[in-house]
Amino acid sequence: MTFFSSDQSLILIVDDTPANLTVISEVLSDAGFEIAIATNGERALEQARRDPPDLILLDIMMPGIGGFETCCRLKADPHLHQIPIIFMTALTDVENKVRGLELGAVDYITKPFQEQEVVARVKTHLELRQTQLQLQRSEERLTQTLNALQEVVWSASLNPFEILYLNPSVKTIYGLSPHDLIAAPHLWIEQIAADDRAAVRQHLVDAPGCGSFELEYRVVDGNGEVHWVHCTAKIQLDESTQRLRVDGILQDISARRLVEQKLLYAAQHDSLTQLANRSFFTERLSQLLAAYRGQDGQFALLFIDLDRFKSVNDSLGHRVGDELLIRVSEILVAAVQPTDLVARLGGDEFTILIDGIAGEEEAVLISDRIQERLQRPILVGEHLLNITASIGVVIGSNAYQSADDMLRDADIAMYQAKGLGRACHKLFCQEMYEQIMDKLYLENELKYALKRRELFLEYQPILTLATEDLVGFEVLLRWRHGKRGLIPPDQFIPLAEETGWITKIGEYVLRAACLQMKTWQQIHPAASRLTISINLSSYELQSIRFLETIDRIITESRLDPGNLKLEITESSLMKNNELSLQNLRFLQGKGIGLSLDDFGTGYSSLSYLHQFPIHTLKIDRSFVQTMEPGLSSFEIIRTIITLARALNIEVVAEGVETATQVNYLKMLNCEMVQGYFFSKPLSAAAATQYLQRSMQDKQRTALTCRSSRSPLPDHRINRQNIAPTEP
Ligand code: C2E
Ligand code: MG
Ligand code: MG
Repeated sequence: MTFFSSDQSLILIVDDTPANLTVISEVLSDAGFEIAIATNGERALEQARRDPPDLILLDIMMPGIGGFETCCRLKADPHLHQIPIIFMTALTDVENKVRGLELGAVDYITKPFQEQEVVARVKTHLELRQTQLQLQRSEERLTQTLNALQEVVWSASLNPFEILYLNPSVKTIYGLSPHDLIAAPHLWIEQIAADDRAAVRQHLVDAPGCGSFELEYRVVDGNGEVHWVHCTAKIQLDESTQRLRVDGILQDISARRLVEQKLLYAAQHDSLTQLANRSFFTERLSQLLAAYRGQDGQFALLFIDLDRFKSVNDSLGHRVGDELLIRVSEILVAAVQPTDLVARLGGDEFTILIDGIAGEEEAVLISDRIQERLQRPILVGEHLLNITASIGVVIGSNAYQSADDMLRDADIAMYQAKGLGRACHKLFCQEMYEQIMDKLYLENELKYALKRRELFLEYQPILTLATEDLVGFEVLLRWRHGKRGLIPPDQFIPLAEETGWITKIGEYVLRAACLQMKTWQQIHPAASRLTISINLSSYELQSIRFLETIDRIITESRLDPGNLKLEITESSLMKNNELSLQNLRFLQGKGIGLSLDDFGTGYSSLSYLHQFPIHTLKIDRSFVQTMEPGLSSFEIIRTIITLARALNIEVVAEGVETATQVNYLKMLNCEMVQGYFFSKPLSAAAATQYLQRSMQDKQRTALTCRSSRSPLPDHRINRQNIAPTEP
């Protein structure tokens, strides 16, 4: 079919009167149209089917099938029914004109023909036809576009709600065809998730005032599947109906929502245990604190740290460690109410937020329950693991300004529970906070102690028991703080170890002690037989750098390594890793003596002592001070001495304070002693005096021994005269 343009449009003229055909053909071809003719209805149909015209001029009265029948057949043919038909009839034939129009003709022209009228009518109907075709095409295009859209395009009129249009993609969200929804518009709202329905309704109510709206909500399709949709809509007055109309677009954003939900979940949860993570927990805690501000009622925060989890990880591997953490998380969740929030802060640290508790007692009860459940053996793979936890408990109160403060206090309480020997809980109190702050203060001050020359050494003599000959000194570190005065090593050495300052401090002790010993040897050649014992922290023992340090200091001080003894506590030897053992062998190879300090307190098995290159055992003063024949400490000391002798190891009894202890030790043939009974730790100057006197005594004894026997060496009698002095 050709588009309208007068010179190209094909006009089919159907008439049985040749004169009519000639007249009209001429008129129209003069006007620029292409012409086809037919002299009866059958021919006209044939011609139209072969070459469909843009317009048909049809005579009514014809032999064979007449004009009306031809018109009916043309209208019945789907390929031809849209071709405009103009009847040609006599001026007076009103009845036929009406009938023709009823049969679908667009117009009629009357005989005798008026040339201009014929051309004008034909042109008008061709133009109309073309406009109609354009409209039809544009509608087709629009429908194609709307049908191709993934988004749902909808249009509805308000009050009452009636759906005017929906494109087919509505089925992907509602599970219903446009037709079904248009027929049952109430489903449009009823299939919105119950929680979101009110919001959508409200938007529709407010819509006329706003002009447009935008919101996200859920639609549940017939299969119960939930679709998140984003809806944008515009409201306007429909001119034709004078009713408000909403035109909108619905977009299925379920996939985006899912990704967002996954991201949010990942941001708020621990990937291993699926528990809440620190940030989520802190957020909830902040909310709870805000909710309780100025309100009655209590809540508790439990801070749970597994005891010795690291050793599970180290000995059985991370996989078992991870599995254990998952099992623990399950136990914790099962031990509390579903409304309580259990979180993993990281590592083996868990927290639980318990809202609405009656008081401290309830929090303690819950801690006990958790403790009890955790203590039941846990099967991980083929390993049956026994685990305990230390729990810090804080009761939420108005005093807390922030979640971090409350978490900090729970952590402090947990730390205290650890300090109490683990597997227990501790309720936070203000003193704990002060203790921790004090510790932090000292930790910080310790940084400056060396620089400020606040550290110095004391020397405690070690003697043979039988003859009370001086065999050496133990070096003991002292810290005189500018404000706090003397701080005992038991307090600051652990801090130095925790902070790592011990490396520098240990180096200072070693250097000062070696130089002191060298100085004594220069004053007294006989001092070359004495030893200087230096306490070594387990941290130093495990470091390779320590070996370099000791090498350097021996070279610097030119001290014979044989004059040096290093004291290692039994517990640090128990931590015995490969490196410590290698280091001990290295030190032994250098000729440096090794003492096992505080012996008897570290639960080591005596039987494995021979594995270590130990020269001396120092029996811990707790045994010496409680020794009495018949008591276990007495027997322990006897056993230690017997064993040491069998292994060719020397024994020093530490902390000897009384003559009775001296006598007992003599009964047991203890070789060496150290303690206040003989001398307290001495300043360098006092130790120098002590040493000189001891050397002189020794010479004198040697001399008198040759003539007569002397009772006690003088240094023993004079020990009270030598007051410990500090720099
Ligand atoms: P330790 O090595 O067992 O030192 C012996 C401790 O017993 C010293 O305490 C000493 O003063 C004390 N003592 C000696 N005789 C008696 C006595 O008859 N009765 C009583 N009641 N106590 C006595 P101090 O000086 O307080 O040292 C405590 C611990 O600090 C030492 O135990 C040692 O483990 C550690 N330490 C001291 N200096 C250093 C050091 O330079 N480096 C390292 N890493 N640790 C050190
Ligand atoms: Mg010691
Ligand atoms: Mg000791």
